[in-house]
Amino acid sequence: MDSPVNFDKSPDGLVPAVVQDAVTGKVLMLGYMNQEAYEKTQAEGIVTFFSRSKQRLWTKGETSSNFLHVHDILVDCDGDTLLIKAAPAGPTCHTGADTCFQEINQGKGQFLNYLQGVIRDRKQNPSDASYTTKLFARGVNKIAQKVGEEAVELVIEAKDDNDDLFKGEAADLLFHFLVLLEQKNLDLDDIIAVLQKRHAKQ
Ligand code: AMP
Ligand code: ZN
Ligand code: ZN
Ligand code: ZN
Repeated sequence: MDSPVNFDKSPDGLVPAVVQDAVTGKVLMLGYMNQEAYEKTQAEGIVTFFSRSKQRLWTKGETSSNFLHVHDILVDCDGDTLLIKAAPAGPTCHTGADTCFQEINQGKGQFLNYLQGVIRDRKQNPSDASYTTKLFARGVNKIAQKVGEEAVELVIEAKDDNDDLFKGEAADLLFHFLVLLEQKNLDLDDIIAVLQKRHAKQ
């Protein structure tokens, strides 16, 4: 019978297989299948790859018992890539994470969200020692004024070519901007949503 999967396209007879959580849609991992791995997967309903490092058939979960139970197998338009929708019996990644994929550039963008959480905490749990708490105590007009001052300082530093001073003022502006958002019970996501909406119109 003609297979819908073309294992001969690649000289090593391997086809990449993306595994997706059948319920959450999260992409869990990528492995490779040769014809034998594919047939075993079809027959058993549990994902078996051909491991390029082990150079043998590898049933995901063979030692950890974190098997991938197959719900659906999809093939792409030209038969050289598989998408497997599966129910993971446990964490898919050997690091213990549910997915093998993690953001490479994580940290920088997410730090702003973290900082926003700290700022919110200073508002909800005032502390005498906190500069941020003092800002909230001074009210929205003062905070907005502070944002304006930091913006002016940034403008002044933009004319120089001292990057460190410019970056310092940029950080001041961003911080006070976050405080202002918090004072108005908004957060960064609300502003990002506006930007995304504008972006979509283009
Ligand atoms: P397991 O198949 O879960 O029993 O794990 C057996 C071995 O396969 C581990 O010790 C790892 O070397 C490797 N391994 C497990 N899960 C992954 C994965 N998601 N991606 C790559 N290698 C893995
Ligand atoms: Zn393709
Ligand atoms: Zn992994
Ligand atoms: Zn400043």
